[in-house]
Amino acid sequence: MRRIFQNGSIVLPDGVLPEGAVLVEGHHIRDIRSTPFSASEADEVIDLDGRFLAPGFIDIHIHGSMGIDLMVADESELIALSRHLAHRGITGYLPTLVPTDDRGFLKTIDMVSHLIHEPIDDGARILGLHFEGPFVNPDRAGALPARYFRTFASDEDAAPFLAPSLAERVPVRMMTLAPEIEGGLALIEALMARQYVVAIGHSQASFEMCERAAALGTRHVTHFPNALAPLHHRHVGVFGWTLLRSDITLDLIADGVHVDWRMIELIRRVKATTQMALISDAIMATGLGDGEYEVWGETIRVRHGRTQNERGRLAGSVINLDEAVRHLLRQGVSLTEALLMASRVPARILRIERWTGSIEKGKRADFVCLDGEGRIAFTCIDGRVVHVADRSAPNAPPIEGERE
Ligand SMILES: [Zn+2]
Repeated sequence: MRRIFQNGSIVLPDGVLPEGAVLVEGHHIRDIRSTPFSASEADEVIDLDGRFLAPGFIDIHIHGSMGIDLMVADESELIALSRHLAHRGITGYLPTLVPTDDRGFLKTIDMVSHLIHEPIDDGARILGLHFEGPFVNPDRAGALPARYFRTFASDEDAAPFLAPSLAERVPVRMMTLAPEIEGGLALIEALMARQYVVAIGHSQASFEMCERAAALGTRHVTHFPNALAPLHHRHVGVFGWTLLRSDITLDLIADGVHVDWRMIELIRRVKATTQMALISDAIMATGLGDGEYEVWGETIRVRHGRTQNERGRLAGSVINLDEAVRHLLRQGVSLTEALLMASRVPARILRIERWTGSIEKGKRADFVCLDGEGRIAFTCIDGRVVHVADRSAPNAPPIEGERE
């Protein structure tokens, strides 16, 4: 099957190609041109109608949406979530697990590994798993269930994550941890030996501790600067370390609730866009509107786009990644920069850039087609146009000027 996407602008790694055209053969990008193809070169011509064709979004931190919570979801719910995410421009994601017991982890690992190897029709691709904890700092718990937090004394304490068969079953494995907990550095060593993407998060590590984690291969920080010790002029800590080291990537929740826009502006003045990824950190209540929901063993209240648990803390977001992109556009970030943060940077963090994350010859045909304001027209996964998107989720924080 050969498909041509044309009559729009193509967002390439080194700039936008106006009036460009992309030829897809099967699952892969075969050719990119600055002039239209002739219709006879393909079985189907897809009209971009003056919009942008950009790399599909990749969400490396998501807990659920539309009433589906990954901690308790069954296989059919996970398939439904993948299809929902495809409607929102996402072509690949990492289901993200909060701390639980070994049985809970193993159950989800089983289910996810099955779906990774059996692609979901019309659904976003499950790339692997992100474990947010359980090896994190109780003083920076945020909304994570602290009763399941662990320290690391021997491999047995991390048995589900260190199992030799896991790499084959789950190709991408990411863990957010606090290096300063007991055994934290030894855990990083064990995870690096198993090709994990190790991220610092829910942590108040000192600058020196972060340096030791980096010496072992750590290069990423999760939902910066949420659930980290704040910046202090005499204790620079993980906050200052993340900003100072140009080889460290970070991700952030651009929902207008988790991080003040002025802080995002400050971060952007220090970090290169190529070091910053967008995540949703969406919880199951995303897309359901205001109300009270049972999430991770407690009641979480959602009002005007803000989540709050029983302890008064933020408990994840209720946005989709496409809304984060539109928020950034409203804040004056350029379309190409916002798209980079939603596709190529996350692909690079996961070390899957060789086959996805940008529009280049030979890569998978994973696209999102959107207008200049970030409104999605369709998503394409593996060369197949999967959906014309519906409207925004009802309980997301309003994007100025977009709804009323
Ligand atoms: Zn999270």
